[in-house]
Amino acid sequence: MLVTLKTMKEEVSFESVKEIFTEYLIKQKHRKTPERYAILERINAFDGHFNAEVLYNLMQKDYRVSLATVYNTLELLLNCKLIIKHQINGQYAQYEKMFGNNTHNHLICTNCGKVKEFSDKQLRISIQTRKFAHFYSSHYSLYLYGLCNKCKALLKNS
Ligand SMILES: [Zn+2]
Ligand SMILES: [Zn+2]
Repeated sequence: MLVTLKTMKEEVSFESVKEIFTEYLIKQKHRKTPERYAILERINAFDGHFNAEVLYNLMQKDYRVSLATVYNTLELLLNCKLIIKHQINGQYAQYEKMFGNNTHNHLICTNCGKVKEFSDKQLRISIQTRKFAHFYSSHYSLYLYGLCNKCKALLKNS
């Protein structure tokens, strides 16, 4: 079964997300360990951005895994496009899930690196229905750069 991100965008059950991961692990000859599925489950329950340490700390409550396993699993999930990685202003890499109804945009403070998310239906529709020559889009992520409230006030006073 081949599930593309296009069809995943609206309504997707966690079962089909696990299926995508399982198919990927089998195809790439990686082991289907319970740790990897526990990490995927934790990500599924998490909204917003996280980095590897945050995820690692969250994991300690329900399933003990090593930080190395967290990093390794994030790599695998990136490869099968179930999560995306944001590398913002040379900070720690941030990740977020790509399944479920999770199309949103990002406001990034160029001073402190804080990320805020926003959704815009008009924008989403116009991007998703946009046709490109010799290119088939599957998903997108938009970044807007500027200053957050705090930094704006701070920089004004200095
Ligand atoms: Zn985001
Ligand atoms: Zn800021």
